[in-house]
Parts: sequence; structure tokens; C-alpha cells
Amino acid sequence: MRGMCCFDLHSHSTASDGTLSPAELLVKARGAGVDVLALTDHDTLDGIAEARVAARQQGVGLIAGVEISVTWKAMTLHVLGLNVDPHNPALLAGLQTLRDTRDERAREIGRKLENRGIPGALEGADRLSQGKILSRTHFAHFLVESGRATSVREVFRHYLVKGKPGYVRGEWAPLEQALGWIRDAGGLPVIAHPARYRLTRTKLRTLLGEFSDCGGVGLEVVSGSHSRDETLHMAAVAREHKLFASCGSDYHGPEKPWVELGGLRRFPDGCIPIWQAEGWPAASAA
Ligand code: AMP
Ligand code: MN
Ligand code: MN
Ligand code: MN
Repeated sequence: MRGMCCFDLHSHSTASDGTLSPAELLVKARGAGVDVLALTDHDTLDGIAEARVAARQQGVGLIAGVEISVTWKAMTLHVLGLNVDPHNPALLAGLQTLRDTRDERAREIGRKLENRGIPGALEGADRLSQGKILSRTHFAHFLVESGRATSVREVFRHYLVKGKPGYVRGEWAPLEQALGWIRDAGGLPVIAHPARYRLTRTKLRTLLGEFSDCGGVGLEVVSGSHSRDETLHMAAVAREHKLFASCGSDYHGPEKPWVELGGLRRFPDGCIPIWQAEGWPAASAA
């Protein structure tokens, strides 16, 4: 591929909590000038087959990916698996256990909201998820729809985060296990939006040590949810820990206009892009 190439390696479709179908997402990617897109839905690979077909039609390179929910030291972290084999049995079985956890958590969220005088939230969220992954985003959309709040952000703040009435802690995959599934499926593990976890320097160092020991190779330096300073900081961290740098918008659909597909800042100096890692498909390297 050409020297200048636009990569967006983190995005969501209706297979999880995005609002565009995989096919619509690929049309959007082409329009936005994205050359290589990774579809990375939460805990599922269900969108990949449709995305493949659409990517061919649009002339966009597709990286099959997934964003895995991980519990590490009682916190939830997100680990991307880039360029995974979407038919790998170990990965598919692992993701199924996370979806079971999600369904269990959703029932609990529904019960808690019901006890606080908000009936029908589980059914509402389930309807909005259209039988796909059930995420807090679907609860948020339902609560907006039923007039309990004016925006998804507000729902999270008042209902769905720690200490609020609809919060339920999920027990997700241990870090080592999630990385095992990704490696088994031939993928490259990347820590998603690392600045979002608000880790202390020491804790971040511990995390990245364990991550590397388990076969982790990348850090999402450029993210739709990183400020300029956070990007610079994570670039330095990636260099220090000898991790490849990744970039992704974390696009969920047009209703969050401040996050655009492909609209990403450049890597700060000294980053080694993930598409130069061993195991990246040759056809979509820069
Ligand atoms: P879940 O994996 O079901 O716990 O849902 C997590 C998803 O909720 C994230 O991937 C985001 O898309 C969304 N999310 C989390 N926090 C917020 C927030 N404060 N405002 C809006 N969306 C959020
Ligand atoms: Mn999401
Ligand atoms: Mn995430
Ligand atoms: Mn994401």
C-alpha cells in the first residue's frame, strides 16, 4: 500500500454498541478516507463476515478485530485483538463466556433499576441491542428514550457508573486469559485507550510488565478519547516499554460527533506503528 495511508484500528458496529451496521461502517470509512479499518466490537466477532464483504466492495482494507473486556486488579480494562482469525475456536469460546457474563450482568442491572422505580429497562435495552451484545450503552439509550435523562453521558453519570443505582461490577476475563485467546487466534494484543483508566505511574508500569509477559505487543497511543497531552505521554510510555503504537478513533456512530472515523492525530515522534509488527497482514501495511 502507499506510503501515506490512513489507519483507524478501533471501531464499533451494531454487532456490539455501535449504531451503524458493519456495511454502513465500511461505507463511512471509505467516505472518510480510511484505507485500513479494524472492526473491534466488544466481546464479539459477529460483525466481521458482513464487514469483509463490504470492505471488498468499498476498497477498504479490513482488519478483523475484537475489544475484549478484562478484569485486572478489580478494574475493567479493554484489550484489542487485532488481526485475529475470526473462526478460532479458543477465541470464540472465550468470547462466549464474556457474553454470558454480560447477560447475567444485564439482568442484575435491570433488577437494580426496577428497584429504583425504573421498570422495563432490561427489556428496553434488549430490544435496542437487537439480539446482539448487551452493553451499558443500550441501557443508556433506553433511559434517554424513556425520558429519564437527556443524553447518554448523563445516564452514565447518574445511573451506570460506580456508586450509582444501576451499576453492577462485571467479572470479565483475566488479562492472561484474554491475551491467550488473542495469541491463539494469531492476533496482536493492544491495550485500548490507556489514558482512560487513570492509572498511577506505578500501576501502569505493573500492567505493562504483565501485559508484555503475556505476549502483549501494542499500546493505543492515539485514541479518540485521548487529549494531546495524553497522546504524548502514552507515546513515551510505549517507547519505554518497547510496545508498538496503535491508533483508533473508537468510533461508535454519528451520534457522538466529536469522534470521527479516521479523524486521528499523527503519532508523536519515535513511535513504531503496529502495522510494522510481525504478524500484521502484508497487504495492509503502510
Ligand atoms: P459495557 O462494556 O457494557 O460496560 O459498556 C461500556 C461502553 O459504554 C463503552 O465501550 C462505551 O461505549 C460506553 N461508555 C462507557 N462510559 C461512558 C460514558 N461516561 N459516556 C458514554 N458512554 C460511555
Ligand atoms: Mn462501547
Ligand atoms: Mn473501550
Ligand atoms: Mn471501543
